Amino acid sequence: MADTRRAGAVSAIAQEVGRDMLAAQLVDWNELTVSRIPTPELGHGEVLLRVAACGICGTDLKLVSGAFAGKWPPSLPFVLGHEWAGTIVEMGPGTEESDLKAGDRVAAENHAGCGLCRLCRAGRYNLCERVHRPGYKLYGHTAQGALAEFAVRPVRVLHKLPDEVGDEAGALVNQGSLTVHAVRRTGLDPGSSVAIFGPGLLGLMTAQVARSAGATQIIVVGRGDRLRLASEVYRCEVVDYEKADPVEAIKDLTGGRGVDRVYECAGNPAVVPQALAAVRRGGRVALLGLTGGKDVAISPDALTLNEVDLMGIRSSPNAYPAMISLMASGAVDVAPLLTHVYPLEQVSKAFEALRDRTAIRPILKP
Ligand SMILES: [Zn+2]
Ligand SMILES: [Zn+2]
Repeated sequence: MADTRRAGAVSAIAQEVGRDMLAAQLVDWNELTVSRIPTPELGHGEVLLRVAACGICGTDLKLVSGAFAGKWPPSLPFVLGHEWAGTIVEMGPGTEESDLKAGDRVAAENHAGCGLCRLCRAGRYNLCERVHRPGYKLYGHTAQGALAEFAVRPVRVLHKLPDEVGDEAGALVNQGSLTVHAVRRTGLDPGSSVAIFGPGLLGLMTAQVARSAGATQIIVVGRGDRLRLASEVYRCEVVDYEKADPVEAIKDLTGGRGVDRVYECAGNPAVVPQALAAVRRGGRVALLGLTGGKDVAISPDALTLNEVDLMGIRSSPNAYPAMISLMASGAVDVAPLLTHVYPLEQVSKAFEALRDRTAIRPILKP
């Protein structure tokens, strides 16, 4: 059906966009259905995109289970999906000064800060102070996500993808950018040693980004096929926590010192004390995964006496361009991670493949 919702000039492609679209909706906790819902309306400064590929992650599993009910998502039904790439269909009013145009392939950030608060103005829009005001949106969490045929986003959260980065790889830019932010924030020096807990997508991306930043010893802690991938494909030293104590093993591999930087990528509360015990004196520990609200006992004295910096890593401010360059140049290779691709109709199957660990990152193609 021809689209007559928008006034003014509408491109030929945009006319193919219907009033409604296929979308995967969370209709109740742990219940996803695929149905037709209204195509989102373009607002000022926004762009309409056709979603090409959207990944699902551990946070989505927590969202689906209701771990953040009432906050993420604020209400049901809700369209999840925050790791994605697509093609611009229509540029909305107020986007005339953008370098982007209809037909461009892009990856979308999921954090849109208000742009006006102190933290947004300092470039830390992932920490926007106006989270309850209209200017702030966390797509796929507080605002409609991309597990759908179409999505609308502010033009300022979009980044053009070069030909070298395909649509499915483009869906991994979000998680890769988080690891760029982590590596930057921890001030990783060339020649550093690194331990990564959790060989999922985040961990395997962190390993590659840390290497590109100059890490020369990379130890990955995990188990199963994912750990094998870390060893065989990404040439990391590995520790199987089912066979060895991870902290002792890391100490053994670093002459008893511990590593310069630790990245907790498992989102597992039991891992946090291990991460703190595995870092050298004066080292830094970054937490990239959410534990789903679970608390952890730590020793403040150990942090103080050893001058260990413990830092939270949230989202990926100003990191998409670097990640896209790393992928386009081949410094980060995601091809071995793109093993499970599904049509949108199989959304439940894709979530199951993530839950039972058969897929590192299921990708849905609407
Ligand atoms: Zn995610
Ligand atoms: Zn703000």
